[in-house]
Amino acid sequence: MISYAKQSIDEEDVQHVVEVLTSDFLTQGPQVPAFESAVAKYCGAAHAVAVNSATSALHLACLALGLSEGDIGWTVPLTFVASANAFRYCGAKVDFVDVNASNGLICVDALKAKLQQAHTSGCLPRVLTVVHYAGSVCDMQRIHELCDQYSVKIIEDASHAIGARYKGLPVGQCQFSDICVFSFHPVKIITSAEGGMLTCKEQSLADKLIALRGHGIYRSHAAQDEPWLYEQMDLGFNYRMSDIHAALGLSQLGKIDQFIKRRNEQAAFYHEKLSHLPLTLLQTPEGVYSAWHLYVVRVNNASRVARKELFSELAKVGIRPQVHYIPVHTQPYYQALGFSWGDYPNAEAFYNSCITIPLYPSLSGQEQNYVIEQLTRILVKETNL
Ligand SMILES: *Cc1c(COP(=O)(O)O)cnc(C)c1O
Repeated sequence: MISYAKQSIDEEDVQHVVEVLTSDFLTQGPQVPAFESAVAKYCGAAHAVAVNSATSALHLACLALGLSEGDIGWTVPLTFVASANAFRYCGAKVDFVDVNASNGLICVDALKAKLQQAHTSGCLPRVLTVVHYAGSVCDMQRIHELCDQYSVKIIEDASHAIGARYKGLPVGQCQFSDICVFSFHPVKIITSAEGGMLTCKEQSLADKLIALRGHGIYRSHAAQDEPWLYEQMDLGFNYRMSDIHAALGLSQLGKIDQFIKRRNEQAAFYHEKLSHLPLTLLQTPEGVYSAWHLYVVRVNNASRVARKELFSELAKVGIRPQVHYIPVHTQPYYQALGFSWGDYPNAEAFYNSCITIPLYPSLSGQEQNYVIEQLTRILVKETNL
């Protein structure tokens, strides 16, 4: 079975993890700070804070930016539910901004209009979480200019996009945002099995994030003559990453450029070979170097094969695609909060036609050719009926 995504673990990764297992520390040892420093260096960030998942990272990001009951958080509907759920964890309301049909990224014109409207009616959000869909990057400079006008904080959900670049700047540097979040789940660009990381520019934000990940305790408050002392200042969590996970993440980070180069080559090959099929391929915006976390195609209206049929036909020949994403606002939980189908037409049209086909560094040329052959067979056969 050729899956839409798969981790690439080699002997070196295994060795690094095994070494931790026989060391003095399984957690709270040297691997986590080493992984944090390496990620900070890699993306030019002032600070990096590791946690046990991107979901935890999104929660802490919202808390550190002051999101609480009575506030509103905005994100896009075309994302994993975690981007929106983080607002709910803080007791805040959720609202959405639609995406561009061409690339699945937040529609900046829709954002502009919604901000103006919210300003007029006095319901501006405290936080906007943008999503770097499929490894591409949102138009951060324009988003920052707009949000700055209304004092809206910006979180980048870069779960798909470690290693991507925007106008030459690495994602995670936070040039145009307050906090950036990465995921190291096995399907993502690099993995720590489970794991996430936050990056930010401000020391005070980093301090808050570190405290919140560990029960709200500030170690720096320990006194010289009472070395056992710690003070819990806020209600925090145990969102720590273990040294076992960090060792895997750190080992994987050493291979990231190789992984992303390979993903870019594979995406270019798909672009070339699929362009004549009744599919709409994702466009990467000017100035963006995509990390190509996902290769998403959209089945054209003109095609006689619906997405559903394409999905099951691929499954029949040993290819396991995926669909990214069911629009968050249509989930039963969000419908119960008042959202419904029809609210965000671009995200819904995207969902109705999209399918994610296999792309990952260890996908062989032969396997990729097989995927192309099968797509061509299914789509061309059906359109010639
Ligand atoms: C994977 C993902 C998450 C959640 O990541 P975890 O590390 O599994 O918690 C959040 N947002 C997006 C966009 C994702 O793709």
